[in-house]
Parts: sequence; C-alpha cells; structure tokens
Amino acid sequence: MIETRLLIGGERAGGDGEPLAVENPATEETIAEVGLPSAEQIDAALEAAHRAARDWGRTPALERGEMLHEIASRLRARTDELAELMTLEGGKPLVENSDEVGWTAAAFDYYAEIGRDSAGRVIPPIEATQLSLVVKEPLGVVGCIVPWNYPLLLLAWKVAPALAAGNAVVCKPSELTPLSALALAPCFEHLPAGVVGILAGAGDVGEAIVGDGRVDGVAFTGSVETGKRVAARCAERVARVNLEMGGKDPFIVCSDIGADGVRVAASGGAWAAFLNAGQVCTSAERFYVMDDVYDDYVGAFVEQTGSLVVGDPRDGATDIGPMVSATQREKVVGQVEAAVGAGAELLTGGGDAGRDRGHYFAPAVVTGAPPETDLLREETFGPVAPIVPVGSLEEAIELANSTRFGLGANVYTADLATMVRCMREIKAGTVWFNDPLTDNDAGPFGGFKQSGLGRELGREGLEAFQETKHVHIETEIAPKDWWYPYGS
Ligand code: NAD
Repeated sequence: MIETRLLIGGERAGGDGEPLAVENPATEETIAEVGLPSAEQIDAALEAAHRAARDWGRTPALERGEMLHEIASRLRARTDELAELMTLEGGKPLVENSDEVGWTAAAFDYYAEIGRDSAGRVIPPIEATQLSLVVKEPLGVVGCIVPWNYPLLLLAWKVAPALAAGNAVVCKPSELTPLSALALAPCFEHLPAGVVGILAGAGDVGEAIVGDGRVDGVAFTGSVETGKRVAARCAERVARVNLEMGGKDPFIVCSDIGADGVRVAASGGAWAAFLNAGQVCTSAERFYVMDDVYDDYVGAFVEQTGSLVVGDPRDGATDIGPMVSATQREKVVGQVEAAVGAGAELLTGGGDAGRDRGHYFAPAVVTGAPPETDLLREETFGPVAPIVPVGSLEEAIELANSTRFGLGANVYTADLATMVRCMREIKAGTVWFNDPLTDNDAGPFGGFKQSGLGRELGREGLEAFQETKHVHIETEIAPKDWWYPYGS
C-alpha cells in the first residue's frame, strides 16, 4: 500500500484538495493519487509547527540528538521499501536509491551529534567583572522545499540540521515525487506532534509556506528561477532563506595524468555526467580537456558511454533509468538539437535508447558545440556530455568560470601546483580533484554566484537554522564612569 496521506500536527490525513496523479517515469503509468492539502490543512500544519516549535526548542539538545539517531535507525530499517518507492516515482536506479536512503540516515546521525556539541561561544568581555556570550537559538519554524532528483537526501540536509538546532519543520516535496516523503511519516512518530509536518503539492503550496508569517526561515533546493521567487518573497518579510539552486559544473582534464589517468578520468567523467540520468545539481555538464589528450579522452568517453546499460531502473543491471518527466526530457532534446543545428556533432546517444515507453534518453556525447549554445551555458539536467578541447590551464579555468553558475567543479590532475591554482581560481562551492561528486556530511555544500545562497551540511548547515544572540552580563551593579553627567 502506497502512503498518500499528509502529516499534519502529528496525524496522518488525506488531503481535502484536488488529487495529484503521480507517474512512474519508466512506464508512464499513474502509480498513485495524492489528495493535495486544502488551504485549511496548510494552515493547520503551519499552526501545529508554530505551536510545537517552542517546546522543541527548549528540549535538551542531547534528547533531540537521541531522537534524531532514532530517525536514522528507522530510515535504515526501511531502506528497501523507501528505495523501491523512490525508483517507482523518480526513475533513479534502485542501487542509487538504496545509497540515497543510507546517506539520508547518515545526515540525521551527523546532526544528532553536531547539534549537541555547542550552543555558541564565550567571547572576551569588555571588563573583568563581565561575561559575554554568543548564544545560538533556533529560528522557530522552517519551511523545507525540495525538488524531485534526491527527494529524501535533500530533505534530510534541511530537516536534520533544522531539528537538531531546535526548529520545527514543514516539508514540501516536489509534485513529481511526493510519495517517498509522505512515506517518511513513521520515521518521525516518536517526535512531539507538529515538530515535523509533511505536505504535498506544487508551487502554490510552496508559496503558501514561504509567504506565511509563522515560517521564520525557508530552506529551498530547486531551480534558479524558482529560488529567486522564493528569495524575493522571503525578502518582503525578512524571513531567513537558504538557497541551493542549479549548476553547470565544469570538468577539467589535464594532460599530466598519463594514458591510464585519461582512461580513469573518462570513466569518472561518464559517471559524473550520467549519474541519475544527468539529473544531479552537480552533474558534470561541460568537459574541458587539454589538447594533447583530447582525442584519447573523447575515444575513451565514447567507449565507456556505449557500454552503459539503459533500462528498467528496478533491474540491478541497469546503469541509467528514464528521465523524470516528458517535460524534462524535451528540454534536454531541445538543447542537444540546438547545439547540433549550430554545428556540434553528436558522437553517440541522444535517442530513446530503443524503449517505446518511459522518458528514456540514451546518454549522449557531443563535440564541437559553439560556446554560446545553451548546451555550454545553461543547465541541461540530462545525460549529455559536451566535450571541448582547451589549449591551457588558463583557458580551462576561464571557461570554467564563464557561466552564471558556481555549484561544483571537477579537475583531473596529478600536479600539486595545478591543484592549488584550480582550488584558488575556480569559482565554485565545491572543487573535487580526481574523485568526482563525492559528498561528505561534514563538508559544507552550496553554490557561488546564482547557484545559491548559504550552505547545507557541515557546521555551516546547522548555523543556517540558528539565530545568533549576543548576551552581555555585568556581575557588579555599579554606575559606569562614562554615563551622565559628562561635565563633572
Ligand atoms: P523547481 O524549482 O521547479 O522546484 C523545486 C521545488 O520548489 C518543488 O518542490 C516545487 O514544487 C517548488 N516550487 C515551485 N514554485 C514555487 C514557488 N513559487 N514557491 C515555493 N516553492 C515552489 O526545481 P525542480 O525541477 O524540482 O528541480 C530541479 C532543479 O533543482 C535543478 O535546477 C537543479 O539544479 C536543482 N537542484 C539543486 C541542488 C543543489 O543542492 N544546489 C540539488 C538538487 C537539485
């Protein structure tokens, strides 16, 4: 039985609004209908969170931490069920979704500990009789709005630190993948009612959360365009906002890595470009390869791409499943066709991978795309790898920094001086050397430029959900000599 009920004030309730059909992108069949929340139900979820936030914020951090560890245990115990559901509604291969549940649980464990590690700091006071503290407090209620590509992980990167910091949360998954988030309800049953609410719906439900005066902060992951709207709405009432948005990550291959290194960089590159059918915010979307290894690199990349199995995401042998929706696929087709129309060459892939149903797109390798095409400038979010030759590291770095995005970047090199230069000059929130896309709960994640505002994960990811208070204590009750009167 697929859970389609919302979580409001600790109770599961069917939505009173219009039904939302959820599609399996591999078969195009409707797998469930979710009743969307009515305006009254959205209000009830926000009110319950608002009421719950006070006591939750006062709960000792150790107790909150224990409850977060319990969430992690419950998640791990349900790995197969949750992974299956994510594959059904999102099309990501089962093996990747099992990993996602593991990382989701790990985020709760990480913040369970980080959340009880400190509550601020002591700073040197102005005088010896004084104590000065920097105290970290919860914001209150945090709205957590996420996309469809990593529905549980991206929720955990918000919910876990927000709860650890003492906030209540109201979650809004994507309208394409609401089922896995709704299925989380039993993982939160041991928390006080209202501390976690889960709604479903599209942008209108998101807007109702973002615009509500009871929501003290919004944590958003999604496209740049929606993120800007969310930021503008938050700015009107000066609500706190954390934004994780799109990317156009560069992937630089240097010639110092030798023939074996080139082959490794080609398999690493194919994985970074095609993981989750290229629907990763940090997908490698532009390859800049030094002239002298360019031909070998392209050859190895095409060979690797041709060996990938595109198919049923529930089959353990499948490397790449369908894209999430027809709309998403059309956008990718449009970008590739425009680049080919402008003179690019499609070396492999690009069709429907021989599948007559489902939103499949065979992983594609493109060369010769003109720099001004969207394929090299705007987010693609599909399994396409455009490869471009470069004459120098200088040129590679300049091209890497040439878009409005700055989420992640990858570099293959064995040369320390090259690493240091790339580390300093590439404008991106994460720079990976020789190990594409590896996340670390302790490492802050987010974007430069239009890719984001603020950070998730690490200590920064906890601070995003904390308000800062300076407390100044004088222990002696005595007049100060700088008070009135000035004249004596
Ligand atoms: P999207 O912007 O269309 O939607 C994201 C979420 O916002 C959804 O839940 C949606 O219902 C909601 N929403 C839509 N309009 C809203 C509004 N006006 N107010 C409040 N909420 C609203 O993005 P998407 O298509 O679901 O996801 C793909 C995008 O997400 C890509 O651009 C990708 O790069 C980005 N992404 C970024 C990261 C990151 O960490 N930086 C991670 C994953 C995905």
